[in-house]
Amino acid sequence: MAKFIDDLWQSEWDKNRVNKLYPILPEITMKPTVPQKRRDEVVMNRVRIGHTRLTHKHILEREELPICTNCRTAKTIHHILICLVFIRQRDYIEISNQDPFEVLRTDPQRVMKYLKEIELYNVI
Ligand SMILES: [Zn+2]
Repeated sequence: MAKFIDDLWQSEWDKNRVNKLYPILPEITMKPTVPQKRRDEVVMNRVRIGHTRLTHKHILEREELPICTNCRTAKTIHHILICLVFIRQRDYIEISNQDPFEVLRTDPQRVMKYLKEIELYNVI
């Protein structure tokens, strides 16, 4: 049934080559990737550049640099991705403890899941 609908849609699509989108998507099966939720995009961009509300709000509020109380080191995004406190969550989501940035490059959805699991997603 899905194939039938795809074929029908394709034939309609082909009839309408003046359609502005046709040169971009000549085949309907070449659907653009589904956009992530806007919030995920914002969080992902902030994590990638290492600038988040959590790690940088102290500058605006003229407070001390936030410190991980467990590891006694600056609470940066890099640290959050390797902090010993969250080993169990990384294991659960299968994020490498050696190179979490590899995961950041290959599977951002797992990073989103991790941030939600450690309850930091909403403060990024
Ligand atoms: Zn830590």
